[in-house]
Order: sequence, then C-alpha cells, then structure tokens
Amino acid sequence: MKITSVACQILSTARLQGAERYEDTAGLKFPQVASEGPRQFAGRTDIRHLCVYPADRSTVLVRVQTDTDVEGVGEAHAPVAPRVVKTIVEDLLTPVLIGEDPRSIEVLWERMFSTMRLRSHTQGFTLEAIAGVDIALWDVLGKHYGEPIWRLLGGAYRLRIPVYSSGTPGQTVDERRAGVVQVLDEGFSVVKTSCGRGTLEAQMDLVAAMSETVRDRGRLLVDAHGGFDLSDALRFVQFLEKLGNVEWFEDALLPEDHDGYRELTRSTPIRIAVGETDCNRYRVRDRLIHKECDLLLPDVCRAGGISETLRIAQLADVFGVSWASHVSTSTAVHLMAGLHVAAATPNCFISESPSGFADGPFGNVLLKKPLALENGHVTLDETPGLGVELDEDAVAQLVLE
Ligand SMILES: [Mg+2]
Repeated sequence: MKITSVACQILSTARLQGAERYEDTAGLKFPQVASEGPRQFAGRTDIRHLCVYPADRSTVLVRVQTDTDVEGVGEAHAPVAPRVVKTIVEDLLTPVLIGEDPRSIEVLWERMFSTMRLRSHTQGFTLEAIAGVDIALWDVLGKHYGEPIWRLLGGAYRLRIPVYSSGTPGQTVDERRAGVVQVLDEGFSVVKTSCGRGTLEAQMDLVAAMSETVRDRGRLLVDAHGGFDLSDALRFVQFLEKLGNVEWFEDALLPEDHDGYRELTRSTPIRIAVGETDCNRYRVRDRLIHKECDLLLPDVCRAGGISETLRIAQLADVFGVSWASHVSTSTAVHLMAGLHVAAATPNCFISESPSGFADGPFGNVLLKKPLALENGHVTLDETPGLGVELDEDAVAQLVLE
C-alpha cells in the first residue's frame, strides 16, 4: 500500500455571503487594546493575547490518497494564514510521504517532525500541518482495515463522550446570560465562558452572572485567554472557588509564565487548565514535571494529530493528570479526531464542541450524516476510520483554494 497524493483544501467562510463574523459571536478581538475606563492596577497582559482571532473562519482539510483507492481526510487547525499550512503540507511534507506505506504512521510522523527541527518544529504551523496529515493517515488506516480509529488505538474506555459548549454567544452580560440558557436548553451541562479583559471587578461580575445562570443545571468553565497576571489570577481564582460550580480555570496566564502556573496550581483546589498552546510531548513533559497544571488541553489539530495527542495523553496519565480535548472553530474532522483519542484514553475529562456546530458553516452542514450531539454527548460507533463522511458539494461551497 502506497501514498499516491497529498492535497489540501482551504475552507473559509469568506466565501459565504452574510456569514456570521466570528468576532460577533465569540466576544474576542485582536489586537486587544486596553479596556476603556480606569484600571485599578496595571494589567500586564491587557494588550496581549494567545493568538489572533480573525473575523472569518478558515481551516485546511488534508486529503491523503492511496494506490488502493482508500482516501483519508485530516484537518489542520488554520484559523489564520491557512496558506502557510497548505504550503508546508505541499512543499515540505508531501515529498516525505509520496510512495510510502500510509500504515507506517509512527515512522512517517517522526520523519515529518524531523523535517523542521531547525525551525518552527515545536508548535504552530508545522505541527498543525503534521496534524492534518497524521489524522488523514489514521483515517486511511481505519478505512483500510474496516475499523474505527478508537479500536486501532487499543479500544474504547467509553464510546459516549461528554462534550461542552465552547462559548456563550453574545456581547453584553445579558446577551451572554441568554446564551448560557440557550446552550443548557440544547442539552449541554458544561459551558465555557471567556473573560480576562478589563478590570478584575468587571470580570468577577461577568463570571458571577454566568455562574448564577448555570446554577445547578451544570458546570462552568472559565477561560481567561492568558489575560491575567499572577497577582490578579490568584485573587480571581479565590473568587471562583466561592462560586461553587466552576470546574476549571483555563489559560489564566500567558503560556510562557511557567513559574506563575506552578504557583497558581499550588494555590487552589480549582483545576488549573492549560495546554492548547503546547503542541508536542516535550513541551507537555516540562509542564508536568514542574506541576504547572491539573488538566491539559491538547488540541488534536494543533498538537501533531492523533499520534502526538495520544502520546501527550499517556504522558499526562503518568503524572496523574487528566486531559480534555480542545477543539476550535473547525469541522467534524477535528472534533471526531479528538474524540477517538478521548475514547481510547482513561484520563480524558471531556471534549470541547465547536460553538454553533448544529447550524454553523463548518458544522453538520458539511456532513452527509449529521453528527448526533445529544444531551451534551457524542457517541462513537463502528464506522471505519474517523467516521466522518463529508458532503463534498457542501465542502466545495467553502473552498477558497
Ligand atoms: Mg482556551
């Protein structure tokens, strides 16, 4: 069995007339200027952010074709500059892959990783490009053997995986309260809300409102997108402890503040979650050794695909740390790739579900068979490979190039 071609498609909502703008729904913009109004303390991170959030959604699908006519599909996280990912796949990784046996996933992963030890191999575009290829190879493997990926990973601890709502729609506190009610009514029992900009008091008011709205109908996750310095984060987490229904505090600090994470983790029983920016096992290893978190959030389409996310999950387990599958503004390929690893690892907490999956432009509309997201769970089945069958006509509507 040989790989005969590797091709990329950039999907973008820029192709759609009147499509939702991400900044309208997520409440995040970049560059994030200092918030209006007086601050009581200088916020070190007020003008920084984890990354750019563009107005249009984009992603890159990777198609691996073989000489047995089996085609695998993968996805590389590519919300910004998707042409970079496409170029890395086509110019750098494809020559490594053509003519090779697609079943040799471990070997091919190491070869792809070794193309760029000299530059940019630890995270970002290169790892996202490798992720797209790796997921496609696992899809090939599953289809070739007629087995779902979770079985090829060693079997499932569970097939019904809990998922949480990625965000709360709306800009104002009242709109976001309504957004929380909406996602709870849709069947989710775990809801994430973003914060981290503006005064500490304003952020407390916002999260208190979200917590009160969730009340005992579920659990709240709080994501600060790296917006606090350690001093504010320590005060904020003490406030979160008192709310009673907060499950984790995500990206409280900038990811490079390792000492800060260590101190924050030691300070509180609230789970300190980090890791969507950690794209390989070596970076995760250092975080685990230094006890910088209670929960890791690897993203399968950033962290080198199914192969590397599995290694990260297994490494975390050695340290007694759980993980939750991070999923971003992407398609069912991304969601399902993470869910297969989630099913096959004992220490997976929950998976993120992209906001607006039911009716958004990258969600069920791109699938021949909609993904069943019921009562805050997705159930994996026996479909070979990823279990995603794309509606190619619908996909074609979004192809930028
Ligand atoms: Mg996050």
